[in-house]
Amino acid sequence: MPSFAQVTSSLLVLALAAQASGRKIQEKGGLRLRNLAETDDEAAAEWTYRATGVVGEEPYGPDDWYLGYPDCAGTKQTPINIAADVMGTATMQEQAIAFFPSECNSTELVFKSDFAVWQVDFSGCTDAPYLQYQGETYNLLQFHIHSPSEHVLGGAEHAAEIHLVHLKQNTTDGLLVVGIMFEVSDYGQNVELEPMWNVMDLNQDIAEEQFMAAAYSLLPATPSFTTYSGSLTTPPCTEGVRWILMSEPNYMSTWQLDNYRRAVALHEGSKVSEVGATNRPIQELNGRDVLYVSP
Ligand SMILES: [Zn+2]
Repeated sequence: MPSFAQVTSSLLVLALAAQASGRKIQEKGGLRLRNLAETDDEAAAEWTYRATGVVGEEPYGPDDWYLGYPDCAGTKQTPINIAADVMGTATMQEQAIAFFPSECNSTELVFKSDFAVWQVDFSGCTDAPYLQYQGETYNLLQFHIHSPSEHVLGGAEHAAEIHLVHLKQNTTDGLLVVGIMFEVSDYGQNVELEPMWNVMDLNQDIAEEQFMAAAYSLLPATPSFTTYSGSLTTPPCTEGVRWILMSEPNYMSTWQLDNYRRAVALHEGSKVSEVGATNRPIQELNGRDVLYVSP
């Protein structure tokens, strides 16, 4: 089981979890973060992407996540279906986003048992990549992969979705996530993903080698995107997350997709769905603004 040591982003998510659910969060690896207001010995509720469990009992399926994590029943949840007619309707120069890549050769690949994802962690970088949006600076904490995609973009579910999780500078809860859709193609392997796949170890939760991950090289050539206010897509489903969904998909090979899904299932088979999926079902839009931006 994994250790949570030195993984800043997960500590952040756990801190949000404690805040959101009023529960003490317990990680399987043994490290415990206590909600200061909480003194009972209750562990974090078990959840799964499986829908066929016993309704109302742990591990909670997606429709029941709220029983352990009340924020999952909120009105501004993620993912959502972004209709084709939203895309291609507006040009908003003032919403443009600027990405500032940097070469960090000390990124680490870790399996996050609590979220059933392999995650590339940038917390060890002296100069992590960052972006600027709406006059604010957001530093890249980590990126991770869901498969199939969580968002339905223009009516299509994609093979995978990568989330680049950023934190607003000088804050502890200003999260912004850039989502990139991935399709499977026969062009061969995606070379930008290769460093990650090269160190992915089916027998261990932490890759032994640090490596160079060029996160922003995963971005599509076309800078247009859709943006809305949503939540974390795994419990505790904390809201207040700014989502930026790139319109143009990237690609990976069938081998890369299959290997990723196998590596997740081997590590956290009880969390993945009956068909090996790690995506939350679509949530209600509830009247939220969804802006299409084409700089
Ligand atoms: Zn995610």
